[in-house]
Amino acid sequence: MMPAFVSPRPAMVVEGRAGRFTVHRVEPPAPGRIAHISNVGRVCSDCAAPITAKSRTGWCRPCSAKHLNSDPEIHARRIAGIHRKFAEDPQFKAEQAARMAVNASTPAAVLARVASGKRAAREVLARSDIKALTHSADARARRGRSVTNTKLAWCPEEWRDSYRRMLSAGTLAKDAKAMILDTVRVQAKREVAARQRAMAEKHARDLASRY
Ligand SMILES: [Zn+2]
Repeated sequence: MMPAFVSPRPAMVVEGRAGRFTVHRVEPPAPGRIAHISNVGRVCSDCAAPITAKSRTGWCRPCSAKHLNSDPEIHARRIAGIHRKFAEDPQFKAEQAARMAVNASTPAAVLARVASGKRAAREVLARSDIKALTHSADARARRGRSVTNTKLAWCPEEWRDSYRRMLSAGTLAKDAKAMILDTVRVQAKREVAARQRAMAEKHARDLASRY
């Protein structure tokens, strides 16, 4: 029978230092255990997992990734690289977007999003300092403007008050919208016609001034 696999980490005993490396003696594995021993007995300076002679950071792979991922400068460089690649290669960008859309729509991903939203509501939105921010009059006003910009995106800003007045006077929303869009269309036509007329008149004046 094969001995049970227990741990990839052999027991290490610190023996001394060599340059920037700690030198370890590797204990022989206990009977019945398999020890995966790295080639020089070096260990990760964060978690004491064995690392190979090739490691230049002194960390094991997972710890090294953790350090790289938490470095804001490296993060910024990565983001810049991604943006550059997206700008140069629209097809790559489209493929990435398609893949992300698929990944984001799996049942597991949907559940994870719901869970993260609930966690945020519980742990962040319920905090009194956050509540003070989100419930302030200023924040409410900004939210209102943002909702208006979304809901009334079809309506030119100078017409929004008229639209509201029509609704409070009892006009149906769809009728009010049709009336405003109609008026806007007619106005635009009239403006274009006026511009064309002005240009034609100027042209006629220019011609007349030649003689
Ligand atoms: Zn490590």
